[in-house]
Amino acid sequence: MDISTILMILRSIGDEEIRPKIKSMGLLYDIKGMELTPEQINECRESELLLQVSRYSYPACNTCGSTALHIIFECPSCRSSMLTKHDIMVHYECSYTAPAEEFRAVSRSDMVHTCPRCGKQFRKVGIDYGRPGFGFRCERCRFITQYPAVKVVCSNDHVSNIYDLNMLMVEGYRVSSTANSLAAVYEEMVTAAKMLKGHGVEADVLCKVTGTSGAVHIIPLMLKDSSISVMVDYMSRPNDMMQWFRIIARSVDLPDLSTIIVTDEPIDRHILATINTARLRVLYNKDGVRISQLIVQEVLRMVEGLV
Ligand SMILES: [Zn+2]
Ligand SMILES: [Zn+2]
Ligand SMILES: [Zn+2]
Repeated sequence: MDISTILMILRSIGDEEIRPKIKSMGLLYDIKGMELTPEQINECRESELLLQVSRYSYPACNTCGSTALHIIFECPSCRSSMLTKHDIMVHYECSYTAPAEEFRAVSRSDMVHTCPRCGKQFRKVGIDYGRPGFGFRCERCRFITQYPAVKVVCSNDHVSNIYDLNMLMVEGYRVSSTANSLAAVYEEMVTAAKMLKGHGVEADVLCKVTGTSGAVHIIPLMLKDSSISVMVDYMSRPNDMMQWFRIIARSVDLPDLSTIIVTDEPIDRHILATINTARLRVLYNKDGVRISQLIVQEVLRMVEGLV
């Protein structure tokens, strides 16, 4: 699944938590009906599109780790799994235990029952007979029990006892501010890339770049012109130092690229003085033009400056 699709999905969830769910395939993350595998979610986390906010644990097969498990009830006597569920009745005098419907009522009104084993009639519940509740009857050996043996089978057919299962820890996530700001500028970046192409400058939207640390960064707009190595990003809150730390860290991790940061808000001059260097430039959209237009103007100016 490409990153723009994932981003569009993430954009649609807002503040909701993305929780793991056990489906027939095992563990998946469901985002409004769209299922992402733990691998896809992990990729989003590595690209800082998701933030871990919680943890959940699920039983998993101790042979293969599958979380797609189902329960099997077995007859404790013959191990058959052909069990049926019944409302159970016990005739105390002869201990005959069977589904209640087998104890034929003599008549509907007088509540007198006949025992199919000893043939005796009885009427007093708690004295003559008991109604212990629901139970299971083995359809192979007719054994009746309220406590069938419980087994678990995984999607790869490994059978185990329920308490032999392992526990798998998995994370719940929320969409990060990085993902939200990427989603917010996505359309503008696509427009800018198209316009630049019209001017003979190749640019890529939302491209993944691996930094010297091994971390994967998603660059909103990356120029692919051989003469300039520039990434373009947008900042919605340019006076938030935390956002700058992220941008600066990324810039350090990608030493061959310079960064242009586009913003709609005026930046505090102290912040500006620290960050406005040759490799990190701020482009303030003071005239309120379209971001795509601003980027194209700036990039063309850079390209022309090089000629
Ligand atoms: Zn298994
Ligand atoms: Zn049985
Ligand atoms: Zn009886």
